[in-house]
Amino acid sequence: MAHRVTLIPGDGTGPELTEATRRVLEATGVGFDWDVRQAGVDVMDEAGTPLPAETLDSIKANKVALKGPITTPIGTGFRSVNVALRHELGLYACLRPCKSYAGVRSRYENVDVVIVRENTEDLYAGIEYEAGTEEAEHVIAELNKQQKKQIAAGSGISVKPISREGSERIIRWAFEYAREHGRKRVSCVTKANIMKFTDGLFLQVFREVAKDFPEIEPWENLVDALCMGLVQRPEEFDVLVLPNLYGDIISDLTAGLVGGLGVAPGGNIGPGTAVFEATHGSAPKYKGQNRVNPTAMILSGKLMLEHLGERAAAERLEQAVADVIREGERVTYDMKPSRDDPTAVGTSEYADAIIEKLAA
Ligand code: NAD
Repeated sequence: MAHRVTLIPGDGTGPELTEATRRVLEATGVGFDWDVRQAGVDVMDEAGTPLPAETLDSIKANKVALKGPITTPIGTGFRSVNVALRHELGLYACLRPCKSYAGVRSRYENVDVVIVRENTEDLYAGIEYEAGTEEAEHVIAELNKQQKKQIAAGSGISVKPISREGSERIIRWAFEYAREHGRKRVSCVTKANIMKFTDGLFLQVFREVAKDFPEIEPWENLVDALCMGLVQRPEEFDVLVLPNLYGDIISDLTAGLVGGLGVAPGGNIGPGTAVFEATHGSAPKYKGQNRVNPTAMILSGKLMLEHLGERAAAERLEQAVADVIREGERVTYDMKPSRDDPTAVGTSEYADAIIEKLAA
């Protein structure tokens, strides 16, 4: 039976990337019944919002979506569609595997790190007070009453909530992912030595949950030391579970270890619903040029296949991508030895090369 999936082309380079991905996914032989819905800056004028209710309803009904990147317009008052989707759908787990493929331009080989980022709490919860506003001054006055250390008047304030429940569900999710995928080690990444009541709580919950997974080695890492460890010895790291802000930053770092944003896939997963999308944004300067690399989006499609229980197809797809990258001929500019290599192919032609491998 065909899988009914909400397909959101997005904006900027999103439509060309999702189209390449749709064609590759169909070439695996898995049946899809795409429910195409719009979101992003291109629908804002006609729908009055970058996230129409019908798009959200479609994801809620289908439970799975494949989404192209969406631009966050600056200074229009609209908050990020990407953040809104994660909040509205309770997609608390952000999965970002970063794996080396032979042939990708990178300083490293043998990297195979899986980032599990908490998606709803922390400094990204969206609780902020603008410097100089009445609300900010009120919050500052209340906080100053409770402690010796005083916050300067006129400060801007961002709040970092981290709950036991929020921590437990993401940490448990990371360990279960590790167990299911035969992973050996889960690292908890915090700055618990400084932020004892937020990161400290996250770490405390990690220690408790780790006891339920005795076959997996728990590691405790401070985020600053982790940055050095990742660039010096990335092969030592396996699954990493992180609060929201560190997860955002470290997943770009690990994308850099394996060849950049063009090859970094992702999925946002919650109870019963999942939205798969690349780590990168809409790269608007390349819009409509059939130029950017769809690998990240295609590998996000591979994660979606796994999520749908289509493991064999997922493996075949990954192999086809790996083969095309290793051969290094029909690949996009960013995967060539130099960025102005005239033999680079476009987004669509690279997808054709993968489709040919799948058919072979
Ligand atoms: P970006 O990821 O769009 O682009 C940064 C640079 O990375 C690009 O200039 C390009 O050189 C490179 N790049 C990105 N994707 C690539 C690809 N597939 N192939 C080759 N090179 C690629 O980041 P940005 O410029 O900071 O953001 C642009 C817009 O995207 C912003 O509005 C931002 O808010 C939004 N954004 C959306 C998402 C999402 O939809 N989940 C994620 C991040 C950023």
